[in-house]
Amino acid sequence: MDAARCPGCGYTYRVAEGNELEGFAAGTAWSEIPDDWTCPDCGVRDKVDFVPVVREAA
Ligand SMILES: [Zn+2]
Repeated sequence: MDAARCPGCGYTYRVAEGNELEGFAAGTAWSEIPDDWTCPDCGVRDKVDFVPVVREAA
C-alpha cells in the first residue's frame, strides 16, 4: 500500500513522504503506524477508518 486517505477530511498519508510532524519519517510503512493514531488534520478519524490507496489518481 502506497498511501491511505482519511474518509472524513481527505488527508492522505503517503508512505513515501511519511509525516514528520507526527514523528513518522519518510518511508514509514502504514503497518508501522500505531492503531490508535488519529488523523492529524481532522482529529476525528482513527487509523482503522483510513481507506487504502494503492495508486493515487493524478
Ligand atoms: Zn481526517
